[in-house]
Amino acid sequence: MTAAAHTDTFGRPLRNLRLSVTDRCNLRCQYCMPERDYVWLPRQQILNYEEVGTLVDVFLDLGVTKARLTGGEPLVRRDLPELVRLLAEKPRLSDLAITTNGVLLADAAVPLRKAGLHRVTVSLDTLRPDRFQALTRFDDHARVLAGIEAAAAEKFQSLKLDTVVMRGVNDDEILPLLDYGRKVGAEVRFIEYMDVGGATRWSPTSVFSRVDILAAIARRHGPVTPIAERSSAPAERFRLADGTTFGIIASTTAPFCGACDRSRLTADGQWYLCLYAARGLDLRGPLRAGASKDELARLITEGWRERTDRGAEERLGIRNRAPLVGVETLRKNPHLEMHTRGG
Ligand code: SF4
Repeated sequence: MTAAAHTDTFGRPLRNLRLSVTDRCNLRCQYCMPERDYVWLPRQQILNYEEVGTLVDVFLDLGVTKARLTGGEPLVRRDLPELVRLLAEKPRLSDLAITTNGVLLADAAVPLRKAGLHRVTVSLDTLRPDRFQALTRFDDHARVLAGIEAAAAEKFQSLKLDTVVMRGVNDDEILPLLDYGRKVGAEVRFIEYMDVGGATRWSPTSVFSRVDILAAIARRHGPVTPIAERSSAPAERFRLADGTTFGIIASTTAPFCGACDRSRLTADGQWYLCLYAARGLDLRGPLRAGASKDELARLITEGWRERTDRGAEERLGIRNRAPLVGVETLRKNPHLEMHTRGG
């Protein structure tokens, strides 16, 4: 049975938990990890799977029903299917998904499916190998496509492709990516480039907006029909005349904080209430000090009840908008990085 949801100061329920299982990544995407060097979380502070399971149980007691495994890149965490199995056995978790860059997915798709994973989202920003290398600093484009095809063959409940659209970088690939998504049976979601921690190269002029994306698609496909649905999901969905559906996540120009039921647990057990939050709540410390589930539940409930975060909406009001956090600050506090708190 689903527990009654706890609500924050704006009445938003605690429903959706993003679990970052590692801060490490095997790519260096321009919009997330553009620097040469990073400060990593100390290994002894990374939660083991039993600890993750204990915290997830507490979140389920408090009304969470959906979890998404993120990173860094979640598939670089050893034995990830073991964690998937542990979580998939929890009947109150009605939705268990992963967001991956796809590099290791070709080998992982079958074990993940067998372990009980429901849904897969793969980041795919380009169909061009040379551009992929320029964007990520790795020559792994073919592996990503193989990963997507392996996931498609496994028939997960859904397969999505996430594309961060950057002006002058990959905005000319919106239509080819839509075609590719249709070919492999995946819904493409176009994401506006965000000025979150880690995006140190962001500038307002590099944002290819929701309006721009819709215009590019309508030029080729004619009328684009919004799909009406009640959902706290960040993507607005649309349908083309030929039946193709796609999504847009307009985090930068039209944020959706009003319906945000997401919080994020970092690999070292810090709980963040917003992608833009300056600080999180330490759950690892109390957990390792022997706190009971009731005590952990109290900490979480109080944190959520006081939640006032609406980071992306607040950014809208800023004139001369620039990257949220500078490189030096990120080095001193890697928890501010998007790759630490799971994008
Ligand atoms: S900016 Fe924060 S509050 Fe707004 S949608 Fe993103 S995570 Fe939720």
